[in-house]
Amino acid sequence: MVDKPLSLKSSRTLQITYNLPISRTSKFWEGLKEGKVYATTCQKCGVLHFPPVADCGECGSSEVEWTKLDGEGEIVTFTQVFVKPASFSKEPPYIVAVAQLKEGIKALAWLTGIKREKVKAGMKVKLVAKVFSDKVAYEFVPL
Ligand SMILES: [Zn+2]
Repeated sequence: MVDKPLSLKSSRTLQITYNLPISRTSKFWEGLKEGKVYATTCQKCGVLHFPPVADCGECGSSEVEWTKLDGEGEIVTFTQVFVKPASFSKEPPYIVAVAQLKEGIKALAWLTGIKREKVKAGMKVKLVAKVFSDKVAYEFVPL
């Protein structure tokens, strides 16, 4: 017979505050407010990064330029998230998708405006900026 381990249940509400340094990527955040989605292109090695970066992950160069994305693409894979990270714990289950963009890169974002049962790999989507009362974000919407 195995003894039940002793445990103490404690219930507390956690508030998480993120302070993200965005001074070198502020154009991205300003772009979202204007309905534009930007990536960065490394001027040394040519790699396109999304989300944008201040320093190239391929070669380490800080010479990056802003590239406005058209954002059209096709879903490569997706999932519906039921067990959410703490920061999204109050959200209903949501869909996260990876899409191959026309610009030649893959992007990861929430997919909204469609029911899970209707989502299929290969379906056309567009990466769009979203402005909320307290934040900006980007997500895929069906085309
Ligand atoms: Zn580079």
